[in-house]
Amino acid sequence: MSASDLLIDNWIDGQSRPALSGERLAVHEPATGKIYAEVADSAAADVALAVDAATRAFAQWSQTPSGERARLLEALAALIERDHEALAQAESRDTGKPIDLARRVDIPRAVANLRFFAAAATQFASEAHHGAGAGFNVTLRQPLGAVACISPWNLPLYLLTWKIAPALAAGNTVIAKPSEITPRSAALLGELSREAGFAPGVLNLVQGSGDRAGQALVEHPQVKAISFTGSTATGRRIAAAAAPRLAKLSLELGGKNPYLIFADADLERAADTALAAAFTNQGQICLCASRILIEARAYAAVREKLIAGMADWQPADPALAGTRFGALVSGAHYDKVLAYFDRARAEGGRIVAGGHALALAGRNKDGWFVAPTLIENLGPDSALNREEIFGPVATLQPFDNLDHALRLANASDYGLAGSVWTGSLAVAQNVAARLECGIVWINTWMTRDLRTPFGGSKQSGLGREGGLEAMRFFTETRNICLADPP
Ligand code: NDP
Repeated sequence: MSASDLLIDNWIDGQSRPALSGERLAVHEPATGKIYAEVADSAAADVALAVDAATRAFAQWSQTPSGERARLLEALAALIERDHEALAQAESRDTGKPIDLARRVDIPRAVANLRFFAAAATQFASEAHHGAGAGFNVTLRQPLGAVACISPWNLPLYLLTWKIAPALAAGNTVIAKPSEITPRSAALLGELSREAGFAPGVLNLVQGSGDRAGQALVEHPQVKAISFTGSTATGRRIAAAAAPRLAKLSLELGGKNPYLIFADADLERAADTALAAAFTNQGQICLCASRILIEARAYAAVREKLIAGMADWQPADPALAGTRFGALVSGAHYDKVLAYFDRARAEGGRIVAGGHALALAGRNKDGWFVAPTLIENLGPDSALNREEIFGPVATLQPFDNLDHALRLANASDYGLAGSVWTGSLAVAQNVAARLECGIVWINTWMTRDLRTPFGGSKQSGLGREGGLEAMRFFTETRNICLADPP
């Protein structure tokens, strides 16, 4: 590994620390394919330090009044807002995402997550029940202790704050593990947490690989709950590691999301949004649409609109303002996505657009750029319609009627999100009730209200995040029953 000027360390017990072993992993800039930093390669001993710090800090943090917890979360949000541009630059460089997207979505959403759960901390209430002969019941929701928050590389700060904010708001202390591929914004958040005034040990960040640091974290006996977002394969490993001690578990996993366009929809908007749904963040969002299903009588018209719209999704240097489509996150992921183009051709798929790597010029000549891709002529059993690619690849399939559309849409092991485009309320209601997934959008995509439950069914996960669901996940429920008056 070549030496780098930028060293990214753990944040443990209120301090920046390298891994105890001194070992480091290379961090690449996807837009150039070059190493630009090195991150601590933590192991079980580093995890143990972080869990000890979090366990010690819990005694005081869990007793901190909710208004004070809210004030600190607010202070952290304000510091992220202050450093908005620096964080957006860091996120774009680390992930390959367009700087405009980081400015417009990733960093503001991190602020919103912290503000939302700061408010939740002060509003979180429990229930009381009274019934003759059943006593007077009060339900307490108490924090769990030191909890693990494990997040992926696609929306690093956005998804990290989506977990740590409710965990902290509910009175837990946190050991978070960001992806080794995109460690930078988490390290910056650690520094900001000190400036905001969080006591040492309340928020800890352990950097390093999933196999070493991540696995040690989920196996640690003092970790009371695990909130994980990532692939289904890793989710299964984590569930297995948590099973022996029955640690509380929330799993937000992969998706293979259908996007249904009926002929009576506003086809212009449906097609425009389909491209955004397929290609935003280079298709690396769990909510991205990867199977576009089009009513047969509108297929040709929609296909034409999609092709015309591809001009707006041309890859360019993500560091430049105005770029809408950047680089894939890593060399391994780039190879994985390209391999699916060969499989598509081998299965008889017709490439409608893209289907190849792209060599950009100048500083981007070795970057991991892939053309946004649409493929048709593949049936529901094709690997391209079954497996999560998590890249800028969507298939087009025609359907004859509503039942056929639902058969195609539900022909997936995953069940995260679906989007339905129609002018008919009856069709919308019918599809929404029968789509096998946790989130259904009608005539929209990725519209989010942070109060709503977020998560998937089937192989897309267990449990829900968002609003009260998240606060409840991060608390233990205890019912106390007082006897009725004699
Ligand atoms: P991974 O499952 O590879 O990794 C997710 C996180 O888990 C990373 O921090 C990773 O560390 C860590 N990890 C890996 N192995 C272990 C382990 N054995 N124990 C503990 N932690 C481990 O997912 P990706 O990072 O590749 O992210 C893409 C996936 O995330 C896609 O499948 C996507 O659908 C899903 N996702 C789901 C969302 C949802 O809300 N449902 C939202 C966003 C993404 P490291 O990277 O260092 O190996």
